[in-house]
Amino acid sequence: MNKKPGFCTTTYRFRLYCDNMQLLRETKLMYNRVLKFYYDVIRKEPAIWNVPKLQMMRELELLTIGSRGESSDDTKYPFPFEKVPLYFRRAAINDAIRLQGSFRSGEDSGTKEALNFDASPIYYKGMYKEFTSTSINLKLYNGAKWIWQHCEIDTCGRTMPEADRIMSPIIVLEKDRAMLHIPVKQDVDDVRPAKERLANKEKLCAIYCPNSDTLAAMVIVDAEGNFIKSKFIGGGDELAHRKQTLLDRIEKNRKSMGYGKGAKEEWIESHGSIPADDNKAIREKIHHITDNAAHKASKEIIDFCIENEVSIIVAPNYIQSMNFNTVGYVPSSSYDWIGRRIISYVKYKSFAAGIVTATASTKDIASCCYKCGGKLKKYNKNHKPGINFYGGKNFICPNDHKGNSYFNSAMNVAKNFLSTMSK
Ligand SMILES: [Zn+2]
Repeated sequence: MNKKPGFCTTTYRFRLYCDNMQLLRETKLMYNRVLKFYYDVIRKEPAIWNVPKLQMMRELELLTIGSRGESSDDTKYPFPFEKVPLYFRRAAINDAIRLQGSFRSGEDSGTKEALNFDASPIYYKGMYKEFTSTSINLKLYNGAKWIWQHCEIDTCGRTMPEADRIMSPIIVLEKDRAMLHIPVKQDVDDVRPAKERLANKEKLCAIYCPNSDTLAAMVIVDAEGNFIKSKFIGGGDELAHRKQTLLDRIEKNRKSMGYGKGAKEEWIESHGSIPADDNKAIREKIHHITDNAAHKASKEIIDFCIENEVSIIVAPNYIQSMNFNTVGYVPSSSYDWIGRRIISYVKYKSFAAGIVTATASTKDIASCCYKCGGKLKKYNKNHKPGINFYGGKNFICPNDHKGNSYFNSAMNVAKNFLSTMSK
């Protein structure tokens, strides 16, 4: 293998709690005003694109701030805002350069020029301090002046990346909450694309995550799709049982308080407190055990691939495949199917191991025979095969190919992937 080391950037999304949300909004507004101002300057000064990229910032500052750091009468485009911190302005300038650049590169294909901006402020060093896993101090604009504001952070269980890997955080305002996006630089052992690896006859491992006791079925095949080895990861039944026990507790609690709107308040009024096991805590527990299982399974997958010198992992491209970064804080994901989460973690963890994770179409993976493409009948032990019995662990096809359904699906994932790559 001719590995090509490199790096990639992953964005960690943390919840940001600021007592005064208005500060974040004002800061964002100011950021976009500065951005718009520089965007327009760049537009009026197309010659700026002849300046080497690293000097563009300096050039724009000369045009707007002047050489002494303050606008004077001979400054061509006097900077119209007072006391904007240097690094706040610079972040906005870089954003303006980037946006004008992407407009110019798409101009021929009819890209329309942006007139208004809704960019999220990028926070360079100097705009934040005392950044820990639980809080950060941000320099924010209150509409009149810049003040230091202490904000809480919730990493939602993710480990804080090492300080020297953290790049400039971005304050992202969503509908009713604030997030801190933190780009993190990661070393990658091997950055070659899947195609290059296949051309080099490297092995691939296809995974399939049935919603059953098997959390993941893995098959390793060579670059031609010939089977080499398989492994199943179990534990799904145990996990389902633990989840059900917790869900039963939630149900019991709800029942004891009475259902419907106001039931909880009524209960508190007559009992003084809510039942010992607050359902929120139980839901968090469900989320936690599911997440742990997904982490464990994804680690097993990566270990299996490393052991067998696999350099490509192929996962089914499930619709609405969950973004890894949303896993940490979306409570509703507690009940989500674990397969998506396993795949998300595999994608993320494989990077560091130099393995590329690709996806393949889910077309016919569970319904057709991997050997001949024939329509499958599925069955469980001691039952008759049926064409509409999708849950069956075993399969049989019209050409009498038989075996384990999950194995068959994983082989089909590999097959779909190889057929797309050969096109
Ligand atoms: Zn067959």
